[in-house]
Amino acid sequence: MLRQKSGLCIATGSPVGFTLVELMIVVLILGILVGIAVPLYNASRERAEETACLSNQRLINKALEEWRMERGTMSKPYPADVQQLVDDGYLRHVPACKGHPFTKIDDATGLTECPAGGRHVLP
Ligand SMILES: [Zn+2]
Repeated sequence: MLRQKSGLCIATGSPVGFTLVELMIVVLILGILVGIAVPLYNASRERAEETACLSNQRLINKALEEWRMERGTMSKPYPADVQQLVDDGYLRHVPACKGHPFTKIDDATGLTECPAGGRHVLP
């Protein structure tokens, strides 16, 4: 398409390029799409973190159960902390939730809890 200096097409005489209104509509549509996508992304990321945390809790609780069964006791004493399960070979490493490693084992229940402020609770 040939173009004159005036911004009109030589062949058709119609204006070339986008008008300000067209550009504003494109920006508006992009804004709406971002407004929809960002909350969905954040919600799915939070669900994934929760799922990973609950999976880690189940893994630790299984290791705790094995630890207790091999010692012939389903009650106290519990291991001192999650690191002891790693040291005894029941876990490869100390799992974490949002960068906070699982450390405590509840003295009353013998279970572990979410280390990120207890936000994720097993059902
Ligand atoms: Zn958690």
